Amino acid sequence: MTVPSLPLWIGGKEVPSKSGRSGEVFDPATGQVTRRAPFASAAEVGQAVAAARAALPGWRDTPPLRRARILARFRELLEASRDELARLVTQEHGKTLPDAAGSVQRGIEVVEFASGAPHLLKGEWAEDVARGVDSHSVLQPVGVCAGITPFNFPAMVPLWMFPVAIACGNTFVLKPSEKVPSTALAMARIFHEAGLPEGVLNVVPGDAEAVGALLAHPDVDAVSFVGSTPIARHVYESAARTGKRVQALGGAKNHAVVLPDAELEFTADALIGAGYGSAGERCMAISVVVAVGDVAGALVARLREKAAALRVGPGTQAGVEMGPLVTAAHRERIGGIIAAGVAEGAQAVLDGRGLRVPGGEGGFFLGPTLLDQVTPGMTVYREEIFGPVLVVVRVATLDEAIALVNRNPYGNGTAIFTGSGSAAQRFEHEVQVGMVGVNVAIPVPMAFFSFGGWKQSLLGDLHVHGMEGVKFYTRTKAVTSRWPSTEERSRITLAMPTGG
Ligand code: NAD
Repeated sequence: MTVPSLPLWIGGKEVPSKSGRSGEVFDPATGQVTRRAPFASAAEVGQAVAAARAALPGWRDTPPLRRARILARFRELLEASRDELARLVTQEHGKTLPDAAGSVQRGIEVVEFASGAPHLLKGEWAEDVARGVDSHSVLQPVGVCAGITPFNFPAMVPLWMFPVAIACGNTFVLKPSEKVPSTALAMARIFHEAGLPEGVLNVVPGDAEAVGALLAHPDVDAVSFVGSTPIARHVYESAARTGKRVQALGGAKNHAVVLPDAELEFTADALIGAGYGSAGERCMAISVVVAVGDVAGALVARLREKAAALRVGPGTQAGVEMGPLVTAAHRERIGGIIAAGVAEGAQAVLDGRGLRVPGGEGGFFLGPTLLDQVTPGMTVYREEIFGPVLVVVRVATLDEAIALVNRNPYGNGTAIFTGSGSAAQRFEHEVQVGMVGVNVAIPVPMAFFSFGGWKQSLLGDLHVHGMEGVKFYTRTKAVTSRWPSTEERSRITLAMPTGG
């Protein structure tokens, strides 16, 4: 059966790819190939960068208020297309429709934030920094920005990047994940419909070749990347070598610490949502439960009961709570990690490997899995699993729990569940992680705060969206000015001028 081949989006229109290379896009619920994604060649990436470069002078000189109006219109059209975009996300990623719609909404909120461009781009002003001398700073665009995004949030992660970059006066080339390319292309069409001038946003689905072309291109000024840590490191190092500004968000291993004084039913419900929502394919998913003191027995019993009751099936089916994994290869990999964990001594309280979904035999389903008595040396603890697998590590004290979280090389998100304000306060203060939840399992900051992890979860200095996003996509220019009157006597000074 022939399936449609997707185009590239360059210069405000669809362009068929001539690279001769492409990849299969699956419906993970059936295992069927539904489309082919072009793998853009280096020359096609070059065309996209050229379109972005050509659009830059006009867009940079478009007043922020006018840019903001186009963003506001984009937001309206995205709202109107939310269900259609969510359907595309579910078709290619597999997550449930309500989950997909929620992720689209979180992306729309970034567009809403970016629509405040005239306010966000205000610089600073100081009168009389020295006698008769004033200073002010302005925030100017960086130039042509590139975004490279992962499979797990086909709408939201690209929306973390390009609306903020474009609001700041930059032009953009987006390289979405080859596993889920349709949503990015649909969003580019919608932005065009909202009045975005051609060339300001370009989309080049592709693989490592397209990424390499963006990283090597002398006309790309900044790169935003979200994906796994090894690729984040490669992107960070390659972009930095050629002097590009870069932020590279990597993988995660998020711990939830549960103290004996936590409200257990509430905690277990929150952990089930955070561990198995989106089949665990979220960079902010909880994958390690750190049970402190004597809480483990009662907690694991509740988690087992609730996880076993989850309804797994196609993401499009009403009532289904957890969909399939993104590819068969990903399911194979996770199956191998679970097997290694069991062989290394983890106790399989619930093993999802045998799950059969009636009618979904071809789909990439893996049932919820719960492993207890896990220790930090085990493969299930060390690897980022990125699937519906919760592991439980038992420790005696809060001190041990904090030390465990801090020893982990990742530092994306973490949470503490407790009834104690002082324990929560200590945790918040001491934990070496970028995003912290107190009785909140997935503490993803809203669009007007910034999102980003620490340690191996983010290479680079600035987080995405919020004011850190604005900083990333702008360069500060500081201007010092004086207007001498004709009667003012000038004199030569070779000494360093001071303000005093
Ligand atoms: P990935 O690293 O495999 O791919 C990310 C992007 O890099 C894709 O666009 C892909 O085409 C490209 N890529 C893949 N291999 C490449 C190579 N060898 N050279 C150049 N480019 C390459 O990640 P994924 O599997 O799509 O997504 C899952 C990962 O993303 C997980 O590790 C997850 O934790 C992480 N993630 C992190 C965040 C965060 O905010 N920190 C958010 C979402 C996902």
